[in-house]
Amino acid sequence: MPLPDNRWSVIVHGGARSIPERQRRDCADGCFEAAAVAATILSCGGSALDAVEGATRILENAPQFNAGYGSVANADGDIEMDAAIMDGETLALGGVGAIRNVRHPVMVARALLAERPTLLVGEGANRFAEQLGAEPALTGPAAVLSAHECGVGDTVGCVARDRLGHFAAAGSTGGIAGKMVGRVGDTPLPGCGLYADDECGAVALSGDGESIARGMLAAETLRGVPMLMPGAAIAAALRRLDRIGGQAGAILIDREGRMGIGHNTAQFSVAVAANWMSGPQAATHASELKEWLN
Ligand code: ASP
Repeated sequence: MPLPDNRWSVIVHGGARSIPERQRRDCADGCFEAAAVAATILSCGGSALDAVEGATRILENAPQFNAGYGSVANADGDIEMDAAIMDGETLALGGVGAIRNVRHPVMVARALLAERPTLLVGEGANRFAEQLGAEPALTGPAAVLSAHECGVGDTVGCVARDRLGHFAAAGSTGGIAGKMVGRVGDTPLPGCGLYADDECGAVALSGDGESIARGMLAAETLRGVPMLMPGAAIAAALRRLDRIGGQAGAILIDREGRMGIGHNTAQFSVAVAANWMSGPQAATHASELKEWLN
């Protein structure tokens, strides 16, 4: 068991896209709140896994994000969500795709960490959620509102390093507004929407899911990590989109706990916190946080 070195860091995101001016404050505030929850867990010696799940649950409750309560509707007007969580210590992975009517898809994904399958979709994911007694989705006007207001979407995600040097990543999304029924995006696909490995770090992405999956952008980002600082590793991975097309944003914590954020979208709502900061900082563009990024 490694000794605690007291360093911890966390990044949350609330989606890479073009965010209208009037929504930016809400997006930054939501990310701030989620980062504060994760920071409390990590500063008390909690695990990276608990921190990323806790932060993601906060974001799944917030109507301004396209995840959980605020999820956008598919082509039939129904809500189908994807979520995943990964443990960098054991490389355990839990993902759900096209799951319906649960409040916290990330909690269902977390429960799957203890099982053999790494991904359950549709009916099977819902059956698993029922066995767990997962809370049903909150209902209200949020989904309709966000379907109208989101172009690309506001997937949420979180990466963290805890005081023992363990990493975790999580993501949750309603996907793309008007998507085909049954469509599963990049979010629960390892190496695409997320990855965590104590030997290199943790990464999570948001943006055009099919482009992220085709470019395996989480894997590409971590491939750069041994040679590059986090920001440069993200920039190198995002350059694959020049060939594929599409837009994305990524958050990354490397082995040393250094933080990187990058995006080729106009905005990216994000928040960072670390034991060497006096509190979380939130923004809707990576450049606003450059003091804390490497
Ligand atoms: N990547 C998500 C998806 O394609 C959407 C998003 O990040 O906004 O499902």
